[in-house]
Amino acid sequence: MGFGRMKFDEDELKGQKPNISKTMLIRISSYFKPYWKQTLLVMVILSISSFLGILPPLLIQRIIDRALPNKDFHLLLLLVLASLGTTVVSGLIGVLQTYLNSYISQNIVYDMKNQMYQHLQQMPLQFYSSVKQGEVITRMTSDISGIQGVFSSTVVNFASNLFILVTTGVTLFIMNWKLALLGIIVVPLFILPTRKMGNVRWKLAKQTQEKVSEQNQIIQETLSISGYMLMKLFTKEAQEFKGFRTINAESTRLQIRESMAGRWFMMTLTTFTSIGPMLIYLYGGYLFIQGDLTVGSIIAFVALLGRLYGPVGQMTNLYVDIRRSIALFERIFDYFDMEPLIVDQPQAVAMNTIGKDITFEQVSFAYQKDKPALSNITFTAAAGTMTALVGPSGAGKTTITHLIPRMYEIEAGQIRIGGIDIRNYTLESLRSQIGLVTQDTYLFNGTIKENLLYARSEATDQDIIEACKAAYIHDFIVELPEGYDTIVGNRGIKLSGGEKQRISIARVLLKNPAIIIMDEATSSLDTISEFYIQQAMYQLLQNKTSIVIAHRLSTIMAADKILVVQHGAIAEEGSHEQLLEKRGVYKDLYDKQFERKVFA
Ligand code: ADP
Repeated sequence: MGFGRMKFDEDELKGQKPNISKTMLIRISSYFKPYWKQTLLVMVILSISSFLGILPPLLIQRIIDRALPNKDFHLLLLLVLASLGTTVVSGLIGVLQTYLNSYISQNIVYDMKNQMYQHLQQMPLQFYSSVKQGEVITRMTSDISGIQGVFSSTVVNFASNLFILVTTGVTLFIMNWKLALLGIIVVPLFILPTRKMGNVRWKLAKQTQEKVSEQNQIIQETLSISGYMLMKLFTKEAQEFKGFRTINAESTRLQIRESMAGRWFMMTLTTFTSIGPMLIYLYGGYLFIQGDLTVGSIIAFVALLGRLYGPVGQMTNLYVDIRRSIALFERIFDYFDMEPLIVDQPQAVAMNTIGKDITFEQVSFAYQKDKPALSNITFTAAAGTMTALVGPSGAGKTTITHLIPRMYEIEAGQIRIGGIDIRNYTLESLRSQIGLVTQDTYLFNGTIKENLLYARSEATDQDIIEACKAAYIHDFIVELPEGYDTIVGNRGIKLSGGEKQRISIARVLLKNPAIIIMDEATSSLDTISEFYIQQAMYQLLQNKTSIVIAHRLSTIMAADKILVVQHGAIAEEGSHEQLLEKRGVYKDLYDKQFERKVFA
């Protein structure tokens, strides 16, 4: 499935009936394949357990029919010990089975999580901007974790019930086929209500799930920092609460209905399951009176029949379990089926470009079909020079910069570095030669040092200090209580935008790429911060090919070339003086923004 046709809509998926096709089953079983030995062992254990389960009723039969009437204490002791032995062995086997269950299911989850993580790493940036908040985490955690239940309950239950049905059924028929038929006659009576109830519960569970996710969405939207601010500033607390309360009431009502559906179901089941033994007592009792059957047989028969009804009930519900499991796999496979668009070409070569130029030739790009974000962009950023992009917000400046490290794939035209189409380079070599300083620098939760080492893991303390000095942030860092070991990120200390951007500059200095892409901070900085950032930038951009989304006049004046971007196209190109002389778009922008010394 191509990226363009990807389905991100969860609600759409929920509405679909899971399709239990052969390919689907083969695909699911491929995850079990590495554990086939353990799975086989589980099956062996389950069949042994099902045999062991028949023994106690048969032993009781012998106690009643032989040991007691014959007053044979020796036989009695032997039969009681045998019963005890069966129970102990069953218990021990049960422990082994639990271990194997959890070994297999947890390992499948482990494999899937690894596969999913690597797959998601390959997804294009566009995926993350279009997917619903929190959805990736849900797939990675609750959906994949749900898979463990598929083996430990669905598969194991199915096999175990099947073995129990076969062994018990065969035993019953061997003991007395007429009685066995009588016991089985009532089975359809409880299969039908079970199926019906299963369907009702499945529908209720699905509705509940939908309500719960609606509820989560409200929580996420209104109880997050920005959502909270919005709610407070527009004083929508009462309205939001009303919405929340309505959905909360609906999900409560549904959950009560769901548990009641279970109760009615159990009641029906108990009634029908008690009919079988009654029939056995009636007809078996008649045979006993006739002298054709022993008391022990009747008791053993009823006990065995009890073993039969449980699995039959569960097997009818199995359909619901399987549907649920398949739906779970489908949700996960849906993600696996989204192909990463941006991958290495087969003939890709490593790029080692020190001081090569960047050329855009007739480049067009659209985020959404028929809504071009860039059209026919052509320019050259000469090696070792600085090119400034200016223009109104939404013009396409950021988009241009994102195309260079191939965060998105262009629709038409060509981007070349050192004369070679960037699609001919391996992604790794291309990206390792590009340093990106964005406006909202992301620092992960960890120490400043760890954040810096992310750029170059083998950097020494000396390298780090030098980079930070060049980025004009060293003095600030050493003033912090823990210096370079101070924790930053969402659980660490809060840094200002300017401080973060300087750390980001230090990070790129450590990486030392040939090409620098920079999005200058628009947020107004105090004069001192601005001075430091300018100095840091100067250090960073020295002798590099750089493309800077410029917002400050000083940056624009320092650029070797200025590109004025407007409506996804390059409106003007030249130096500051040339462009002013043209008295065109640039002059307009300059006149409007000069007062604030800030562009866009
Ligand atoms: P600038 O950096 O000049 O402010 P951008 O390159 O960010 O402009 O945006 C150019 C156009 O592309 C805008 O119309 C914007 O709405 C659109 N755009 C930007 N990012 C995305 C995206 N991830 N998905 C869809 N449209 C986008």
